[in-house]
Amino acid sequence: MSRIAYVNGRFTPKSDAVVHIEDRGYQFADAVYEVWALFDGKLADPEGHFARLERSLGELKIPMPMSRAALTTVLRETVRRNRIREGLVYLQVSRGVATRDHAFPPEGTPPSIVITVSRVDREATEARARKGVSVVTTPENRWGRCDIKTVGLLPNALAKQKAREAGAVEAWYVDDLGLVTEGASSNAWIVDGDGVLRTRDTNANILRGVTRLSLLDVARQAGLKVEERPFTPDEAVSAREAFITGAGTLVLPVVAVDGRPVGSGVPGPVATRLRALYIEHAKATAV
Ligand code: PLP
Repeated sequence: MSRIAYVNGRFTPKSDAVVHIEDRGYQFADAVYEVWALFDGKLADPEGHFARLERSLGELKIPMPMSRAALTTVLRETVRRNRIREGLVYLQVSRGVATRDHAFPPEGTPPSIVITVSRVDREATEARARKGVSVVTTPENRWGRCDIKTVGLLPNALAKQKAREAGAVEAWYVDDLGLVTEGASSNAWIVDGDGVLRTRDTNANILRGVTRLSLLDVARQAGLKVEERPFTPDEAVSAREAFITGAGTLVLPVVAVDGRPVGSGVPGPVATRLRALYIEHAKATAV
């Protein structure tokens, strides 16, 4: 069955779905995106993702293309037409189509919207989480506004490819101070030698991950000590555990950094428990 995409008001088979060559997303990466995990056909962590979408659009002065309620209806309808229950929903909003000119097009230019849905094999992802994954480190070379979820992802794509070529699944950026900022498509965490959960604070140049934010709450409610405090790659290697978070990875144990084992080199109890608790939370909040 062919997958269905939503493009500017129309549902189209994905193979026929196209955007204009003068779309500003294509020419200038002048666009933002969101990704929701889909559990049992429902969008997980909706509030966090809508809030971040509105914030990213606001920072770029792109109008919200429709109300939250209308967008929720369109997202759900795209999911329904694809008949996918477990997966990911991708939304991209660009500044729209205009004759190429760096400055913004005239006010009233309608934003372009694209929505796609992809299936996730939950059994396969759970098996991967039971084994854990490796990450590599890479110098931080992105722009200074990583808090905006833009589609300007070339450095992220190059970092991810570096990870893949090293047999790892994620790359952790390391800034000029030698501290880990975040992953190419996830936030980075450790459980340090004192059992404290640590992840980079949002004053740093990172994306405010929705999974990260929800997990901070989930972890505190579970009685864990949490600090938004940076760590170095060496601290990650000597930590008890490490893991990454994101709508795609949920909570995924990291067992090696640059080929050096983390802790005992297998997924630890804290990350494993947090994965289960986060999935519970995501299912409970999904709409
Ligand atoms: N950091 C970056 C650079 C990302 O691209 C992502 C997700 O794509 C994340 C963190 C995790 O964000 P979220 O938990 O909202 O998926």
